Amino acid sequence: MAAKIISGTEVAKQIRAELKDEVSELKEKHDVVPGLVTILVGENPASISYVTGKQKTSKELGFHSIQDNQPDDISEEKLLGLIDQYNKDPKIHGILVQLPLPKGINETKVLYAIDPAKDVDGFHPVNLGKLMIGEADYLPCTPAGIQQLLMRSGTDTNGAEVVVVGRSNIVGKPVANMLLQKQEGANATVTVCHTRTKDMAAHTKRADILIVAAGKPKAITADMVKDGAVVIDVGVNRIGKTASGKAKLCGDVDFDAVKEKAAAITPVPGGVGPMTITMLMMNTVKSAKVHAGLI
Ligand code: NAP
Repeated sequence: MAAKIISGTEVAKQIRAELKDEVSELKEKHDVVPGLVTILVGENPASISYVTGKQKTSKELGFHSIQDNQPDDISEEKLLGLIDQYNKDPKIHGILVQLPLPKGINETKVLYAIDPAKDVDGFHPVNLGKLMIGEADYLPCTPAGIQQLLMRSGTDTNGAEVVVVGRSNIVGKPVANMLLQKQEGANATVTVCHTRTKDMAAHTKRADILIVAAGKPKAITADMVKDGAVVIDVGVNRIGKTASGKAKLCGDVDFDAVKEKAAAITPVPGGVGPMTITMLMMNTVKSAKVHAGLI
């Protein structure tokens, strides 16, 4: 039987509607408007498109939103000064620096300069450390989106065998850590695979929940998936162009074959992707509430 499709587009829509109501209430009852700044350095087309999407969504939700475009020859010192300015700005609750940054700018130094209390991307080591001990304030957006997809699709993670393919700092490691926590939406038994894993299929075939973030088209084929598994495909790979000239996207999972075996699966596009921006919005609303002393 073909798998149920877990639509990130639908779940994201639902969460954004909830957030919109929350933003209206914050404005009416507490005179608080969540503020988000997205800093874009240079003119990388993919980065422009990501930042535009974030700005559009934040405006739709009623945020105070600023898109700060800087030239690609901005000095590291000036960029750090700009972050310091936003760290001190009471109208700004979330600061996002779009990566990658041009050569010559130390990304780590820039990300570490963001006040952890305004790090709505959840990449600051303070926030990643809190995540590891189960006390996260701001979860990294893509892993948080994956967890929401599991919870809102009624997938029980308690005691489930979760296999994560990929160990990056932005997806694999944090999502593995999150699902390991002694918390609702977690409590799983987690295995993490990577390029040095011996016999990866032996692991993936055990998975009740398989999360794939490898960045390789068809890294997961049907013979690597257990009957009835829930498959979350994080990968976004550009493979040629559609008839209209747009980039054609695919995930890391052989979707057509795996959907015949899995119980549920996320599509690409329309799966994890829409959740990432939504979680950024959720973190910004949370930060606004924290800064206003409401939570
Ligand atoms: P990354 O930093 O390149 O990490 C990829 C990870 O996958 C690495 O740990 C690598 O292992 C592992 N890997 C690669 N090929 C593998 C294979 N054949 N077998 C087993 N492990 C393999 O990538 P990332 O930033 O985590 O992103 C992963 C994918 O998710 C990309 O396609 C990216 O575009 C997508 N993504 C999507 C969203 C979204 O919002 N939808 C957000 C973030 C990322 P090693 O560590 O051994 O090299």
